[in-house]
Amino acid sequence: MRLKDKVCLVTGASRGIGRAIAVTFGREGADVVVNYSKSKDKAEEVVNGIVKFGRRAIAIKADVSNKDEVEAMVKNVLKEFGKIDVLVNNAGITWKPTNILEGTKEEWERVLGVNLIGTYYCIQAVAPYMIKQKYGKIINISSLASIGTTFGEQVAYGPSKAAINILTKRLAYELGQYNIYVNAIAPGLIRTEILSIGRSEEELQKLFNNIANMTALRRIGEPQDIANVALFLASDESNFVTGQVIVADGGRFNFLSHSV
Ligand code: NAP
Repeated sequence: MRLKDKVCLVTGASRGIGRAIAVTFGREGADVVVNYSKSKDKAEEVVNGIVKFGRRAIAIKADVSNKDEVEAMVKNVLKEFGKIDVLVNNAGITWKPTNILEGTKEEWERVLGVNLIGTYYCIQAVAPYMIKQKYGKIINISSLASIGTTFGEQVAYGPSKAAINILTKRLAYELGQYNIYVNAIAPGLIRTEILSIGRSEEELQKLFNNIANMTALRRIGEPQDIANVALFLASDESNFVTGQVIVADGGRFNFLSHSV
């Protein structure tokens, strides 16, 4: 068991990548807090799955873009479990496909509010406790979009994730002296509900096929592919790794780079 008796808080863990991370951590011996903002029933299902491994798990509702709700959630975790060893900032949203002419203030405020500022609020809320215990592993879920190798369908999403990469490096430097690790994972295309936004089933299948064809492994990713990387970063096996953005994309070719 690679996370025996660790306490892990995974944001946005009611489905998709966050769910796979929460279940994997529970299977590896951790007690897990399953955060969600709307999907209570799904979060409870994740909790029930983890409890079956003989571990403690609870679901906590909090919108990560709301500082008060994040602070209340962290207080609640400490009351229930007494510590937080691992924080996974996974909660994230996209927007319907937009271009520079269609983009709105609402899109920018919401996407940056959840993806970037939500990540910041969660780190700010757990950092005092991790500093005190002189230990912590923080894992931020970025995206391949953060380094520009994605389709240009979203204006605010890529910048929100690029800022997470820089935040990861900046905070790794600041918190390393307290034995707190800060890393990010940049997933390629992963089969989850987030991709359905603004796409028909037919468009979704076309997207999956297109991306699989420009990927060395000739397939898109599954949530477990990312959970496995998160497990490495949460475990002692990564004890000389910090400030990194680990790309997990099946080996995606960037055809744009061959066009000049
Ligand atoms: P998903 O299936 O849509 O899951 C998103 C999760 O985040 C849900 O559990 C949702 O729960 C939660 N959430 C959304 N807004 C929240 C908020 N304000 N506060 C707390 N929880 C919130 O998406 P996913 O694909 O698993 O995405 C997980 C992360 O991976 C995101 O950061 C995403 O940007 C990143 N990512 C995904 C892909 C991909 O291809 N799928 C690629 C690169 C990066 P509620 O319904 O309860 O709100």
